[in-house]
Amino acid sequence: MKKIIVIGAGLIGASIAWELSRRGREVTVIDAGLPAGLASGRSFGWINASFALNEAHFALRVVGMAAHQRLAARVPGLHRTCGCLWWEESGAAFDATATRLAAAGYPLERLDRAGGRARAPALKTPPDEALFFPTEGWVDPAALTHALLAASGARVLSGVTAQLWVQAGRVSGVETPLGRIAADQVVIAAGVAAPGLLAPLGMTLPMLHRPGLMIRTAPVGLRLAHILAAPEQEIRQDDQGRLLAPAAAFHQSDDGGDLSDPLGQAQATLGRIGAMLGLTGLRPEAVCQAERPVPGDGLPVVGPVAEGLWLAVLHSGVTLSAIVAEGLAGEMTGQGVLAELAPFRAERLIRPM
Ligand SMILES: Cc1cc2nc3c(=O)[nH]c(=O)nc-3n(C[C@H](O)[C@H](O)[C@H](O)COP(=O)(O)OP(=O)(O)OC[C@H]3O[C@@H](n4cnc5c(N)ncnc54)[C@H](O)[C@@H]3O)c2cc1C
Repeated sequence: MKKIIVIGAGLIGASIAWELSRRGREVTVIDAGLPAGLASGRSFGWINASFALNEAHFALRVVGMAAHQRLAARVPGLHRTCGCLWWEESGAAFDATATRLAAAGYPLERLDRAGGRARAPALKTPPDEALFFPTEGWVDPAALTHALLAASGARVLSGVTAQLWVQAGRVSGVETPLGRIAADQVVIAAGVAAPGLLAPLGMTLPMLHRPGLMIRTAPVGLRLAHILAAPEQEIRQDDQGRLLAPAAAFHQSDDGGDLSDPLGQAQATLGRIGAMLGLTGLRPEAVCQAERPVPGDGLPVVGPVAEGLWLAVLHSGVTLSAIVAEGLAGEMTGQGVLAELAPFRAERLIRPM
């Protein structure tokens, strides 16, 4: 049986491990920390295609949402297709987004103030106009990571840092403090650590610096039926009634702002949420800081980088985890390149040192 090592037990590594196991490969997943210990454990978890950087990115996100539906049927109980009420933009920008998405056939309803109030009665000031995206939703990325690792049957080594083991120009496995582990193929799914793993091969992968902050409250006494994406704040509620929110609006594209005072920022975020929902005395139950893995042009990097070596580094990794795993595992096992992943090959960004 072909042996594969996946470096990184975040959502991307766990998803790839699961897809490879389903295709009959023997998989070992190695993580320097704990599964979902970095970005995947500190993420908003919104699955959507209403945000996209270009047409190819939109197309990938759309098939990414469909891949999550397939995944939800196979690994049930974790996905929540609750819909999203969106009004992050207004005026001409709002109209342009509504027109673009409708023309692309993206499911949406255009709502006036009464329609927004009906969708989110908890809002103190409903928006004058909003879009409702019924097919969007969320998944807890940490819970999904653990579920996929368990379902894959992969061997998981935690607290073990891996480096590539290169012999005669080919990646032969990994070097770890536990010793060398041989493999037929190695996948780098190490998030922001990917450039460091590639460096000994003489390759550079530029990355953007995109720190983020996630805040979680204790359970609150109101129920949000949908994700709320307002100009001042994005919010969702988990099954226990806790509110989750990134510290800045536009979490998909923001730079995280000044993170020198995380607790101050968390408090400001809770102030905005309190004003939106009429809640007083909100306290953070958890404040988590993480670096988003964002390649230099903001777009995913997925595919082969050398003989025996594969790479998957991306932001919006929750939306895209299932399709990236399907596509990469398919290609690794001889199925060819998934059309929607073709614009995101590694060679556009990776350069010799
Ligand atoms: C605040 C925030 C909000 C976000 N919101 C959303 C959202 O709403 N929707 C969305 O789609 N995406 C969102 N994202 C992005 C998404 O969470 C990430 O794209 C995704 O989690 C990346 O997963 P990953 O497995 O690639 O990386 P990570 O989860 O960072 O996992 C990488 C793993 O590799 C391990 N590792 C690194 N180097 C080594 C080594 N040498 N040896 C062994 N192990 C190693 C690390 O320990 C780590 O566990 C958000 C991210 C943040 C930070």
